[in-house]
Amino acid sequence: MVETYEYVYGNTKLSQEEYQKAKKIILDLQKENEKYIEEGYGPFLAAIYDKEGKLIAKMPNTVAKEQCSLNHAEVNTIKQAQEKLKTYDLSSMDLSIYVTAEPCIMCTGAIMWSGIKRVFYGVNSADVEKITGFDEGFKPDWIREFSKRGIEVYGEIEAEAGREVLRKYVSGGREIYKPKGRK
Ligand SMILES: [Zn+2]
Repeated sequence: MVETYEYVYGNTKLSQEEYQKAKKIILDLQKENEKYIEEGYGPFLAAIYDKEGKLIAKMPNTVAKEQCSLNHAEVNTIKQAQEKLKTYDLSSMDLSIYVTAEPCIMCTGAIMWSGIKRVFYGVNSADVEKITGFDEGFKPDWIREFSKRGIEVYGEIEAEAGREVLRKYVSGGREIYKPKGRK
């Protein structure tokens, strides 16, 4: 008998065991995220794991570091996984992506195209925008849209730890990158 956890910010129930596992991974990512921030990376980190819990890829946000607006943590991590596994279609490998914050408009698209089956994230976009001023974009009903495509979503995992990392990023006077003139 699997114990289930009724998840508010998701589209599928998660077993208590899976939930505990996700909490640990996200919390570890938040801690590591702080180290990357110290080295000048953007304040977001993503990792892709297979069903057995083996790490496939992990990358931070490198937008400012590499001067490329596409280089969000999720995009970087998906690229690394696909290069490693030598395929653009990860769907047969039953992979999960864990992210320190809710994927933005670009990254939800990137995840959809990648064949990843499960998304676990920390801080929701409204809080990311409130704390940092980053523009996460418009994502009408993305969790339901993912559901239609067979992609499970679980959000708000260890969110306070994630919000704290973002607050520190801002209070540390680090860069909030966005096009000039954008509100
Ligand atoms: Zn993104």
